[in-house]
Amino acid sequence: MGSIQFKGFPGKGSFPHGIHPPENKELSSNVPIEVMPPPERVVLPLLQNIGAPCEPIVKPKQEVAWGETIGVGKAFVSANLHSPINGVVEKIGVCTLPNGRHLPAIYIKAKGDQVVGQALYDDVLGGHWPKDCPIIYYPTSIAKLIHEAGIVGLGGAAFPTHVKVRPDDTKMIDTLMVNGCECEPYLTTDYRVMVEAPGPIIAGALHAARAVAAKEIIICIEDNKPEAIASLRAEAKGTVIKIAVLKTKYPQGSEKQLIKAVLDLEVPLGGLPADVGVAMSNVATIAAVARSVIREKPLTHRVISVTGRGIAQPKNLLVPIGISMGEVFNFCGGLTPDAARIVAGGPMMGFSFSNLDMPVTKGTSGLTVLTHSDLRRERETNCVRCGRCVDVCPMRLVPTKLAMASRHGKLALAQQYNILACFECGSCTYICPAHIKLVQLIRMGKAMVVASRKK
Ligand code: SF4
Ligand code: SF4
Repeated sequence: MGSIQFKGFPGKGSFPHGIHPPENKELSSNVPIEVMPPPERVVLPLLQNIGAPCEPIVKPKQEVAWGETIGVGKAFVSANLHSPINGVVEKIGVCTLPNGRHLPAIYIKAKGDQVVGQALYDDVLGGHWPKDCPIIYYPTSIAKLIHEAGIVGLGGAAFPTHVKVRPDDTKMIDTLMVNGCECEPYLTTDYRVMVEAPGPIIAGALHAARAVAAKEIIICIEDNKPEAIASLRAEAKGTVIKIAVLKTKYPQGSEKQLIKAVLDLEVPLGGLPADVGVAMSNVATIAAVARSVIREKPLTHRVISVTGRGIAQPKNLLVPIGISMGEVFNFCGGLTPDAARIVAGGPMMGFSFSNLDMPVTKGTSGLTVLTHSDLRRERETNCVRCGRCVDVCPMRLVPTKLAMASRHGKLALAQQYNILACFECGSCTYICPAHIKLVQLIRMGKAMVVASRKK
């Protein structure tokens, strides 16, 4: 992409360090969102968000309607759960997620008519969306509707959105940043939503900004997505929303890096965007916010990319939460003979898994199937002290030291080097010429540090 001058914002349009991995987005970027046929069954884990699980409020054999609340998030950081189909509760059982967690889950078998095809697409993303936030909406009423709708961050983090947008007198928010970077290679979920459905993004941004009392609204997109930029620029015309076009670099979509790139502000170590007056949500989440507030509809479906050279027909799909990943792969023509690794999310920050009988959750931003030729199988050698991992780390950490401290169980040293500040972007592993699995070691070290603090 040609360089686009970054004007009108305090930042430089990029952040220090980071990498430029092959994007591989062309596999699915031009494939319009297709509505997946309704499944026979959905499996809905009671925990699909950062924080506490919700509590089921349905019983086996109970009939449920599309959009009906089936789980209530009672803790402050928790999220409600709704049925994505008309059906009957089969059981409250257990399911496994790609990150290896076993969780209680509500199993629902489809029964009766379902909303399908274009009608479903229009309900979720289509139709008319206002370009203002009427005065009847108070910040608290917007936050309440988002809370009831069970919305969590759809970019993968799955943090409950109502917690982010609740009015808070202790932390004044100046700016709402809507994150459309989607810097993870392969994934085109947000891209397709931005191209096809700018209406709910603009409407959702205006309503979310009212909730947090932000004076400024900035939608952030990388310069490798010209169609999305044009789509949102056209839709934002006549509103106060600004579009920031950033230089493409990984991991620009990370909150701290994006705030630095656009606003030239540093979120303190261990701090949150709110500490520098920013609230941030990803574009698909903001579109879900619009639907929850304007149409008063809960989060029951999401868009995912199913991509990679290991899938026969890469697609972008609108799917019900809880559909089996195996069913999704079958709908995309199945895996190719040279498929080697399936990843929930993208290759940089996703989780590899092999059991296809797992449900899509609110946080599933995509499914990537890599082939043998995509995978680097080089043998790990000793660290050559080249310092490349340090050069690329966007958090200015020393990955080699963190990894070695983790490997040898030196938790005090790991903490001294701020291991918990690592957000597992994988840039260090990507760049390491010795093929040391730095991020995997650091992830293990972080888990050990967290566990040691609970003792
Ligand atoms: S140490 Fe963590 S934040 Fe730094 S490059 Fe490695 S994975 Fe990314
Ligand atoms: S990039 Fe790899 S080889 Fe170079 S210093 Fe870091 S860990 Fe060592």
